[in-house]
Amino acid sequence: PQMHGDRATASVCGFCSTGCNLNVHQRGDEALGLSPATDYPVNLGMACPKGWEALAVLDAPDRATRPLLRNAVGKLEPVGWDVAATTFGDRMQAIQREHGPQSVAFLSTGQIVTEEMALLGALAKFGMGMLHGDGNTRQCMATAVVAYKQAFGFDAPPYTYADFEQSDTIVLVGSNLCIAHPILWQRVMRNQFDPQIIAIDPRTTETTMAATQHLALQPKSDLALFYGVAHLLIEREWIDREFIDAHTSGFDEFAAFVSDFPLSRVVAETGLAAEVIERFAESIHNGLRVSFWWTMGVNQSHQAVRTAQAIINLALMTGNIGRPGTGANSITGQCNAMGSRLFSNTTNLLGGHDFASAEDRQKVAGILAIDESRIPHEASWPYHRIMEGILRREIRGLWVVATNPAHSWINQETARDVLSRLDFLVVQDMYHSTETARIADLVLPAAGWGEKEGTFINSERRIGVTSKVARAPGEALADFHIFKLLAEYWGCGEMFRRWESPAATFEILKQLSAGQPCDVAGIDGYAMLRERGGVQWPYPAESDEYATERRLFADGRFFHPDGRAKFLCEEPRPLPEPTTSKFPLTLLTGRGSVAQWHTQTRTAKSAVLRKLYPEELYVEINPHDAAGLLISSGDLIIVASQRGELRGRAMVTPAVQPGQVFIPMHYEATNRLTHPSFDPYSHQPSYKACAVRVAMA
Ligand code: SF4
Repeated sequence: PQMHGDRATASVCGFCSTGCNLNVHQRGDEALGLSPATDYPVNLGMACPKGWEALAVLDAPDRATRPLLRNAVGKLEPVGWDVAATTFGDRMQAIQREHGPQSVAFLSTGQIVTEEMALLGALAKFGMGMLHGDGNTRQCMATAVVAYKQAFGFDAPPYTYADFEQSDTIVLVGSNLCIAHPILWQRVMRNQFDPQIIAIDPRTTETTMAATQHLALQPKSDLALFYGVAHLLIEREWIDREFIDAHTSGFDEFAAFVSDFPLSRVVAETGLAAEVIERFAESIHNGLRVSFWWTMGVNQSHQAVRTAQAIINLALMTGNIGRPGTGANSITGQCNAMGSRLFSNTTNLLGGHDFASAEDRQKVAGILAIDESRIPHEASWPYHRIMEGILRREIRGLWVVATNPAHSWINQETARDVLSRLDFLVVQDMYHSTETARIADLVLPAAGWGEKEGTFINSERRIGVTSKVARAPGEALADFHIFKLLAEYWGCGEMFRRWESPAATFEILKQLSAGQPCDVAGIDGYAMLRERGGVQWPYPAESDEYATERRLFADGRFFHPDGRAKFLCEEPRPLPEPTTSKFPLTLLTGRGSVAQWHTQTRTAKSAVLRKLYPEELYVEINPHDAAGLLISSGDLIIVASQRGELRGRAMVTPAVQPGQVFIPMHYEATNRLTHPSFDPYSHQPSYKACAVRVAMA
């Protein structure tokens, strides 16, 4: 409802992937406040504290309001946009002339609108000749992308949020849904089927406490658990043979593989009692509509892709996909992680195409009217290879857009050392105060959410519009306009004439998606998205019907050429950094509060959100371990790994098991400890389990 002001403008929230719609109440040019939209199919009148505070974080003293350039004495000083754009072009081009086009790279984000990330990807690669660029989505969704691609033939989360309400058995893996996706948790609470809620998490969380079953397994033993449960289901003939035969491939090999996971082995590896595992298997069998949901507890692991696929296998073998209330469902992290997955031009060529395919390159070159030779034949290096490339001096210039690697990248001290070795570091951000902006050579001031328009794609594949409701401070510009400006100064502006606005770019994206599983050619511009409460992909040109909630695979056809989904499996691997007598505890990291977002770049600007979260770093430690170390709650303690140490306040709690500690990811120091290991397929960092020791400070 319009509570005050003379009008309300609807806008999809710019924090998490839930994609709530918020009505911003305005008088004249002023945004007075906001309220959650009641008629949007995602949030149904709800918002979490971050959404409620979305306007507050725009107004901060450390907003970047003018370009800043590091001067001869090493200080960042304000310059005009002409100097900033000239310097960007001159310095980056000089590096490329001396060391080749690949010596300059970019790091992008899941936080800007799809039209901006597509323009950035096209500009960097086709206009500026960069070969390598990646996004902070590598830190959150890369695993789901690869898992789906290999299993289904395309990166295609199959579900719609209504499935939370229609399931009778909801399995949450490595997901503290209550606080990480609070509105989705509210969708669970609306479920009228009295569902079994099964939470699989080493830690006791807000979600596990509300669940009907909590499987508090040993860190990263989930892969063994799922193989063991698959074996139980097969042994007891609790599988959907008809679905398996008609719609999947590789089941017999999978069945033979999981026969090596008898209950006794799974009990030993997970630390769970046999009856707990059996009850879980029985719940899957008894459920008429079982849905499996996973987030970062799965994605951020050294064996993440196979774990995600082990979840997919359970859904496939029980026929729990393509029907209401079912699915093997990855919940995305950032507001536009899905946009990045399809249109960032990093891992995939724009529109979910393949850099290695001559046919795809020709198609994209034709749509963009560019010379095909400008399109690289290979996907970019993943994030950690870009960092290694900097260390080897193969990459000397880096352009970081709306992300904060000096805080968020794994093994922080090394990451900061790597970034400091660059000849030229450019940071484009809303704030000049991020850990990365503080070490940049050039800071480009960007407009934030609410100060520009474009589209986001949420976890359930829904494309929604975010609107301009406020003016960016000072000389800050929308990322879209920064990219256009840099293109002109670089000398490739002509290539992007058609990309004249986000709305015009959306028309290009429609063309790029046509014929792909993510086809959105039938969407009639932003007006249709606003009118219909967003549209889930696919929505191809010939679509004549519209349903508010749509899921994939209702016809049992997957995207592999044979139309079948694949069972994929592999022997579990040990933890990359097991505990030792010197580092006897396992560190878990994760979201600490509904009120904070990632590196707190924005959320720490809100007095309300700050009040909802302890400013000082805290460490959850089990009473048993605390007693052994003579630690009480509130004591200042030191946590150290082989890579670094931090200080924090002890929070003695049975929420973590003996032998484990938990530190939220939002604090700057957390990644001093984390161990740089990666999933071999998705190259996603394994933030969740490394060896540490704790002592009184
Ligand atoms: Fe925004 Fe996510 Fe909160 Fe919804 S749940 S208001 S999308 S941060």
